[in-house]
Amino acid sequence: MKRIGVLTSGGDSPGMNAAVRAVVREAIYQEIEVYGIYHGYTGLIEGQIEKMELGSVGDIIHRGGTMLYSARCEEFKTHEGQMKGVEQLKKFGIEGLVVIGGDGSYRGAQKLTEHGFPTITLPGTIDNDIPGTDFTIGFDTALNTAIDAIDKIRDTATSHERTYIIEVMGRNAGDIALWSGLAGGAESILIPEEAYKIEEINERLLRGHERGKKHSIIVVAEGVGSGVDIAKQIENTTEFETRVTVLGHIQRGGSPTAFDRVLASRLGAKAVQLLMSGEAGKAVGIQKNSIVSHDINEVLELPHRIDNDMYQLSQELSI
Ligand code: ADP
Repeated sequence: MKRIGVLTSGGDSPGMNAAVRAVVREAIYQEIEVYGIYHGYTGLIEGQIEKMELGSVGDIIHRGGTMLYSARCEEFKTHEGQMKGVEQLKKFGIEGLVVIGGDGSYRGAQKLTEHGFPTITLPGTIDNDIPGTDFTIGFDTALNTAIDAIDKIRDTATSHERTYIIEVMGRNAGDIALWSGLAGGAESILIPEEAYKIEEINERLLRGHERGKKHSIIVVAEGVGSGVDIAKQIENTTEFETRVTVLGHIQRGGSPTAFDRVLASRLGAKAVQLLMSGEAGKAVGIQKNSIVSHDINEVLELPHRIDNDMYQLSQELSI
């Protein structure tokens, strides 16, 4: 393999830049050429492709977002769109591709491999919802953004003796809610993987109130429903005054944490090494602090699971 490409796709996450940097620098270290593909699969189809040098990825390791930009591309879901992509890769003499993105981007990469084009994926998403890896690039940063917000809200919640509902990202995966709720000492954590009962939430609020608690924090993953609706349900059935904060896209931005930068660097280098050793259709991840790779078909067949022990712990500690 003499020339590879790299792209970022789908929802961006902090640390994608560090991953791009690692792919570029490792490739150059291994004396192969590396091309950056801009705007995800859209740029691949359109041939928005440029050679990367060492300096192309200078001064980005600490920046959120992605210097290659990202996109959602409906055309790439079609066979025709995928073949246009393969043609562009061939035109530029690119022999292998690293795709950094979430599960949608993984499906695009799976198609490229099926069409005979060697592709390796890296988990770039704040949601931590990719099977075969303990952590995704960006999750830790998003989590710390959420915790920063929860700590601040806790201050004002205490002053006014209110119940705060904080809605965090996670349509299908409750990881951000679970981890930030646990780290933020939330009374209740609502995640899409576990059904909730408003009566149980109310009971927890009452118990806390009776023993003199000045504030209550409830963390809700967006996939459970709107924080505003949960607040209405609480106000309709109790005397508690509620306020709602929706964290939204601030969770996607910001300078990546050291953890995310190191993770991205390790995964990015591994992707290059796999391509060089002739591997294709592999999803790179981290498990028990070792860098691993799994067949992408297997990864895409597995459901995302929440850590049940951690969920149980969160219930026990917020009694
Ligand atoms: P994420 O990668 O963050 O999950 P999306 O689900 O939006 O984000 O996927 C990103 C892009 O990956 C899509 O816009 C599309 O170009 C491509 N993609 C998603 N699903 C498929 C599929 N089944 N086949 C081919 N490409 C796909």
